[in-house]
Amino acid sequence: MELLKSLYTINSKSGYEGLIKSFFIGLLADLELTIEEDCIGNIFITKGIAGSYPCVTAHFDEVHAPTERNIIVDGDLIYAVDNQGEHVGIGADDKNGLWIISHLLHTKQVLKVALFVQEERDGEMPGCRGSMACSLAFFDDVRYILAVDRKGNNEVVTVGKGNIRLCDNDFIPNDLLQKYNYVCVDGGRTDVVALKERGLQISCCNISCGYFNAHKPEEYSVFTHLENSLAFVSDIIDRI
Ligand SMILES: [Zn+2]
Repeated sequence: MELLKSLYTINSKSGYEGLIKSFFIGLLADLELTIEEDCIGNIFITKGIAGSYPCVTAHFDEVHAPTERNIIVDGDLIYAVDNQGEHVGIGADDKNGLWIISHLLHTKQVLKVALFVQEERDGEMPGCRGSMACSLAFFDDVRYILAVDRKGNNEVVTVGKGNIRLCDNDFIPNDLLQKYNYVCVDGGRTDVVALKERGLQISCCNISCGYFNAHKPEEYSVFTHLENSLAFVSDIIDRI
């Protein structure tokens, strides 16, 4: 919970991801990893040596402009208010993804991670600017990509905006869907959709990670949903 609160406290509006990036990389100081940054600012991490890797992805940026954020924990709910007590966004989209990936990097022996900048649309600028511009070579030895960037608590997006097929509906084993109470759905655009649009062949999907009211001041997270999402993703990686 403390890590999550720290992540929410850092503003990372698109184009201003420097602080969250250095904070996140600081969390990994005790691990033996290869960490590379491309010229756009995306971060690519490799843990372990293997013939092929599972890969998880999230994005550093958020839609909210910087403002004071007092993080409130109310039982299972986490949200923020400003100094006047008005709700303000926390960037749980997609810091919940960063939180999950930090845990996975500490527990898995073999893993690749792609963390993108500038996923969110910004005024006239389209979204997914980091994933549209990155090299795809990092994914040459990747079996599949699990994005942890979906709102809510029970969805696996298998078809992205524009009818982009991300993976077959049986990509995630049915018993794992049932165990963690997830269903396959059609969803919006995010980095894995952009990668598929660019011709990436491997299976991808986008998994709910426990945030609600994304892009709104009333954004909040449910901690037990976030923990369930981490356990789900961890089990998928152990299985396929
Ligand atoms: Zn997002």
